[in-house]
Amino acid sequence: MPKFADVILPLPLADTFTYSVPQGFEERIAEGCRVTVPLGKSKHYTALVQRLHDDEPEGYVVRPIEELLDEAPIVLPTQTKLWQWVSRYYLCSMGEIFKAAVPQGLKGEFKPKTEQRIRLAASFSNATALNLMLQSLSRAPRQKRLLNTFIAQTADGSEISRHRLIEIAAVSPNICKELIDKGVFECYEVEIGRLREQCAAVVPQNTLNEAQQQALESINGNFANKNVVLLHGVTSAGKTEVYIHLITQALGEGKQVLYMLPEIALTKQIVERLRRVFGNRIGVYHSKFSDAERVEIWKKQLGDEPYDVILGVRSSVFLPFKNLGLIIVDEEHENSYKQQEPAPRYNARNAAMVLASFFGAKTLLGTATPSIDTYYNATTGKYALVNLNRRYSSLQLPEIEIVDIKEQARRKLMTGPFSDPLVEAMSRALKEKKQIILFQNRRGYSPLMECRTCGWVPRCKHCDVSLTLHKNSSKLTCHYCGYTIPAPKMCPNCETDNFVNLGYGTEKIEDDLLKIFPEARTARMDLDTTRTRTAYEGIINDFQQGRTDILIGTQMVSKGLDFDNVAVVGILNADILLNYPDFRASERAFQLMAQVAGRAGRKNGRGKVYLQTRQPDNPVLPMVVANNYMQFYDSQLSERMLFHYPPFYRLVYVYTKHRDLSLLEEFSYILGERMRQLFDHRVLGPDLPPVARVQQLYIRKIVLKVEGNLSQYRINETLLALQKELLEEKKFRSITMYYDVDPL
Ligand SMILES: [Zn+2]
Ligand SMILES: [Zn+2]
Repeated sequence: MPKFADVILPLPLADTFTYSVPQGFEERIAEGCRVTVPLGKSKHYTALVQRLHDDEPEGYVVRPIEELLDEAPIVLPTQTKLWQWVSRYYLCSMGEIFKAAVPQGLKGEFKPKTEQRIRLAASFSNATALNLMLQSLSRAPRQKRLLNTFIAQTADGSEISRHRLIEIAAVSPNICKELIDKGVFECYEVEIGRLREQCAAVVPQNTLNEAQQQALESINGNFANKNVVLLHGVTSAGKTEVYIHLITQALGEGKQVLYMLPEIALTKQIVERLRRVFGNRIGVYHSKFSDAERVEIWKKQLGDEPYDVILGVRSSVFLPFKNLGLIIVDEEHENSYKQQEPAPRYNARNAAMVLASFFGAKTLLGTATPSIDTYYNATTGKYALVNLNRRYSSLQLPEIEIVDIKEQARRKLMTGPFSDPLVEAMSRALKEKKQIILFQNRRGYSPLMECRTCGWVPRCKHCDVSLTLHKNSSKLTCHYCGYTIPAPKMCPNCETDNFVNLGYGTEKIEDDLLKIFPEARTARMDLDTTRTRTAYEGIINDFQQGRTDILIGTQMVSKGLDFDNVAVVGILNADILLNYPDFRASERAFQLMAQVAGRAGRKNGRGKVYLQTRQPDNPVLPMVVANNYMQFYDSQLSERMLFHYPPFYRLVYVYTKHRDLSLLEEFSYILGERMRQLFDHRVLGPDLPPVARVQQLYIRKIVLKVEGNLSQYRINETLLALQKELLEEKKFRSITMYYDVDPL
């Protein structure tokens, strides 16, 4: 019988804590169960048992576990193993992973959801009484309608919720309350599951075309001796159909499948497509779902009848699986697979491959624009490579035209942010009832508001950035911390009101567009308009049904959405992408532009893309125009080798953070010097990150570049030992240190 338990607390603590196992729990407690434990003088936490043992810790009095919350583990051994890998590789604590991996409801109280239902009071259970009542309601037509609706809906003996009844009868909730007050209806509560009632599979999978069939066979062949296969398929090649066949195979072998998609690509369309084939065997795990829904999926996966297929976003890699056979990571190049803030700063694509290896399962990575890292692995033998080059039903790739907006401006041909050829193409498309997508990777109205008289620019109080104007709300907002103030009417510096708005956000684009095409029906898709799942799906549906003519959006519009009627795509300012100060700027620019361009001309003829730029000679642009991934990849690879970047070198960013700037600078300097003693020329910095102050904390960054063949674990251990040593000094104890391994 175990006497002690090491538990993980949902806190950024590096170590586990040991508690004693009280009598009565000894036989029931297991690793992976939740317990409540005391911490400090008055705090209590829901913690997770990581290890049971008999080794009494020395040097302090061990406190007992207070409560045992589970009869069976809620975290399975393979999950713990994955957490340990994430913790060791990405330099974060098990507590941080616990916080990120497990839905909130499993870390605190979890209340089952209930629903109010309506039934007839006992005194109206006979037909005579009911008829008399209906007659007496002749002067209360809405009550009568509600009662009649109830009778019709429950005639077959089924039950009905209060909400649904009111909805079908189309009356106000008051009417229902009146019938309850009269003693006709009774209201009662029933516990219900949150997981939606699901349809059974009705449609068999589509047959594959020849190219798809070949890809499928090639994937299967490669899985015989490789654990990871990259499927490189052009946009609209029908990769999803290949996935569906692979899922069917895995299910046939009695295995589970995890199908991962980036947040924004997980849409109703893809869910419905898969539900049509796999029916209620598929579960969806989305971060915009309520926490309670996520708790229910977690519990279902632990039960006897788990979903066979999970379709989910980044965090679905942390769900319990018992018998995983295949993981599909679609759009593998997407940045959103990497969690940026807060820790754990893990890459779910890489974690997925590790998880698959624990099960002896296979991983398929799919994309039209592979990340340089992945393509390198696929061409050097670590992964296998399968190509799918033919667009579905022989769709032609769009024609891309580069428009020099510097030249256009010189000749006074620009209308706001739109060049002459783009305006012409848009008006033609609108006449022909075709649709248009405009891409601008900045939200808000204008990223820079400036006083023309004195040059004053409003800046965030807490961060080292200027504020973005949101005109709809007349507010200035910080996109880093959310700090928001009303837009000033007068310059606080010189007291004039001579403001100019520099730069174009999606809001201003929409404004300017309506000046040219006042009749056009426009919609905006960015972080501000898609805060809820329904808002996001509403925008997509309206566009798909042709209720919107022009869709203006940030990179969200590039995410694998299939629209049939798009004739024109405008990339309004490629320079923002190309000039981003990061060694991956070209890679990201190529991927985004290729993906956005892929939205054009899907069914009816060839689409056209207008790529506006001030630097038409940028070498990335002709490769985008020619859709020449190979040439792009080769050019990037030689640059990466020259400047010691991935995939040849691995990067670790070491961040330090504190309120007191001079203390932080002193510490960062010492840290940099000590790192140089250990890692030599591989250390760069300390430097200022692009945003050097966030939420009143100053930030410094040290870059560590290490050869790909050195052990990441050894490096991490060295870093942690150094951190421990330096933070032991009293004056540095309050400094925050954190890491970003394989940053994106
Ligand atoms: Zn001023
Ligand atoms: Zn801020």
